[in-house]
Amino acid sequence: MNTEEKKDIKSLTLPQLQEALEPFSEPAYRAKQLYEWMHRKLAADYDEMTNLPAAFREKCRETFCYTSLRAVRVQESAVDGTKKFLFALSDGNLVESVWMRYKHGNSVCISSQVGCRMGCRFCASALNGWERNLLPSEMLDQVYAITRLTGGRVSNVVVMGTGEPLDNYENLLRFIALLTDENGLHISQRNITVSTCGIVPGIRQLAEEKLQITLALSLHAATDEKRRRLMPIAERYSLDELMRACTYYFEKTGRRITFEYSLADGVNDTKEDVRELTALIKPLNCHVNLIPINPVKERDFRQSDRRAVEGFKNKLEKNGINVTIRREMGRDIDGACGQLRRSHMKERAE
Ligand code: SAH
Repeated sequence: MNTEEKKDIKSLTLPQLQEALEPFSEPAYRAKQLYEWMHRKLAADYDEMTNLPAAFREKCRETFCYTSLRAVRVQESAVDGTKKFLFALSDGNLVESVWMRYKHGNSVCISSQVGCRMGCRFCASALNGWERNLLPSEMLDQVYAITRLTGGRVSNVVVMGTGEPLDNYENLLRFIALLTDENGLHISQRNITVSTCGIVPGIRQLAEEKLQITLALSLHAATDEKRRRLMPIAERYSLDELMRACTYYFEKTGRRITFEYSLADGVNDTKEDVRELTALIKPLNCHVNLIPINPVKERDFRQSDRRAVEGFKNKLEKNGINVTIRREMGRDIDGACGQLRRSHMKERAE
């Protein structure tokens, strides 16, 4: 990958950029100018940086690689205006991101890896396996490119697209640092959500960072036995270990955990499931987000019907659990993780 030969300039923090530019003998303010072109004005190329000397820009072009994602496909939902973007990376790999409009602002859902190695049985992202981690700049530029293309301000970022963010830990942290930097888009940590399938050491490590981001935990089942049938990661870490890690996260950060629970008809939506889920999470300061499972062609899960979802929610509420039903956005445009990339790759292969 050419990004390994040349330094990836958009993944550098401002102090790192200042250091990288030292051999250039430029005035001290140059690094900040360049940084702002990348992270505040969201320049897609050096050509846009018109107040920087042409010779300097040329030297940067030779020395560094500049991540700039190219949209190869955009789908817009006729139902709710959600837009799904398929981006090409410099090595030809594809990632998908989603832009959603809510009352409280615009939200972008980004991918953290090309493919995924977690293998959840209901998820389309795992079907093609894992290719590589995304660089911090490749996560960032999903937000930047969408901002450029839609012209709208992004207020919330959720790391819930393809990939397991805690399986790309260092790059995720750099991404968060750059996204929240006051010299960049300056998005508040509280407006960032990171979703994990439950890598226990990663959750504990993240707790130590004491960030104010929201941690979303993909639970989907309340017993080890059932969870193992849905998510291979449950073979590695028991629910007991997972709940202790979540409690630790809350103790260290003061941030309430969100449990994601995707409902599949007859699989995890029964009265018994409500009872077990309540017993499991009641001791924690948490919130449950119910998601009617998004049926993926290659997977044989059916969505719980509306009544079952409402019933599940009401019973949890009666048990004193804080719960919301996730609005399904962009269902008409391959809304579920990994579906757009997969359908595009299949078309090209045919
Ligand atoms: N790897 C991370 C983030 C990506 S998946 C994680 O596992 O949390 C984002 C969320 O979508 C997870 O809760 C995941 O379990 C869920 N998900 C994946 N495929 C889905 C589908 N077909 N229907 C409903 N939810 C799904």
